[in-house]
Amino acid sequence: MSTQKSVLLIFTGGTISMAEDPQTGALKPLEFNRVREFIPELKLLDIHIESIAFTPLIDSSDVQPHHWIKIAETIEKEYEKHDGFVILHGTDTMAYSASALSFMLENLSKPVIFTGAQLPIGMLRTDAKENLLTSIEIAANSDENGVATVHEVCIYFEDSLFRGNRTTKKNAELFNAFASYNYPALVKVGVHFNFSSAHIHQNSKHTPLNVHKQLDSNIAILKLFPGITPQIVQAILHSEGLRAVVLESYGAGNASRQEWFFDALAEAVNRDIIIVNITQCNVGSVQMGRYETSLNLQKAGVISGFDLTTEAAVTKLMFLLGENFSTDIIKIKMQQPLIGEMTCDI
Ligand code: ASP
Repeated sequence: MSTQKSVLLIFTGGTISMAEDPQTGALKPLEFNRVREFIPELKLLDIHIESIAFTPLIDSSDVQPHHWIKIAETIEKEYEKHDGFVILHGTDTMAYSASALSFMLENLSKPVIFTGAQLPIGMLRTDAKENLLTSIEIAANSDENGVATVHEVCIYFEDSLFRGNRTTKKNAELFNAFASYNYPALVKVGVHFNFSSAHIHQNSKHTPLNVHKQLDSNIAILKLFPGITPQIVQAILHSEGLRAVVLESYGAGNASRQEWFFDALAEAVNRDIIIVNITQCNVGSVQMGRYETSLNLQKAGVISGFDLTTEAAVTKLMFLLGENFSTDIIKIKMQQPLIGEMTCDI
């Protein structure tokens, strides 16, 4: 029986699969088959590699929830055939896509690794090669019993494998484009692979993969700044169809104590709108009630998102709303980790 591992590459697009248009100089997607031409080293890996490409390949700024559903359906269909999955994706919205997929792919027991590049694959100094080759190697990695080392949705970039739903794009210039500010890297890659098994999600349930495909995107992000006006806040809170708001507050979850602001939030909560408080800071967590300025939010019925990233907060809400849970259940689930996306012991 062959022990060769099999990895499926899912090309969605992004810089990793783009080249310059000779006429305009703008970057546009390459023909998918040409991507393989640029990385002949793929043939040197002792791994069976198959690939599927989105048609057309897209810049990730064009990604929509229906693309996440397409990725999830592809993994569902191909799940038994492969040991791991590598998704080539633009960096701009990669953290949203990885977060969304982490909620959609319940009971995952195989690695799903998003990767991309800051420089197109055809360029001399491209980071595409290293990112792709290492992602494939991690996707095929297993213990002596053949059990996958990583069984969650991740992002691999430069030298680190991060939990996808903890990740944020932090840099539009350097090769280390992603950070996971509130959770350690799952693997650090240098001369060797250093797996941090204490931080890798353990799937002990041995239950079959369950793919969730309903997402509800009637969500707004309300980022506070000194001087934000009642009109703007009201316009957001009264948007047609609105079901939930990610409130980006200051520091440990604080906001202005102006009466109109409190009243606007309390009134929205009374209309069954879920308001989740996360911090504008990269590192650290919301601690509702630590300062009077967050106690007020608590009184208005706003719930804590602890150390959720914006990307994880938005996609977790889309997922929970799509599952049609009651508002009360969504509020409970928003304040506990579903798949390692948050730390609540504060
Ligand atoms: N705009 C590109 C994208 O996200 C950027 C990249 O891939 O790095 O698709």
